[in-house]
Amino acid sequence: MIENNRRNNILKEIKNKLPHFIAAVLVKNQSQILCIEDLHINPKGLKGVLARAFYNMPDETDIFEKAVLLASSVQGFKIDLVRVDPRNTSRLHHKCGKKTQRELNNFDFAYCSNCKERINIHYNSAKNLVIKGTKYLQSSTLPSLHVRVSGTIPSSDV
Ligand SMILES: [Zn+2]
Repeated sequence: MIENNRRNNILKEIKNKLPHFIAAVLVKNQSQILCIEDLHINPKGLKGVLARAFYNMPDETDIFEKAVLLASSVQGFKIDLVRVDPRNTSRLHHKCGKKTQRELNNFDFAYCSNCKERINIHYNSAKNLVIKGTKYLQSSTLPSLHVRVSGTIPSSDV
């Protein structure tokens, strides 16, 4: 019981401090976008370790939303929080888009099946998240940009 209380207090403390830490990183890097995995997926069908990890996750959305609000207020501009579909972010090499080949029991590094590069799995996943998030932002801002760029200037203005 005491152990459980201690564990809960530690988790609570992490949850309180984490947004401030993330905000500090965002401010230091002058970030304009924060891409996170959209983990609001249906945990049904997940098995074993992945299912347990999913159920034990803190409500990350709260943490990241708070971090973005804190950093935005310091920066003086709004930082976009983009939730990205996490599928294949660790399976595909961010440089060439081909599958990575993991070694048994190696959770940090893999080799690209195509270019044979040795890949840090975590860094690769993060890069894939940024690529997906940036594509999403571009696709959602493209229509207005398109209108501005391709809009014809009224002849009376010429
Ligand atoms: Zn590759």
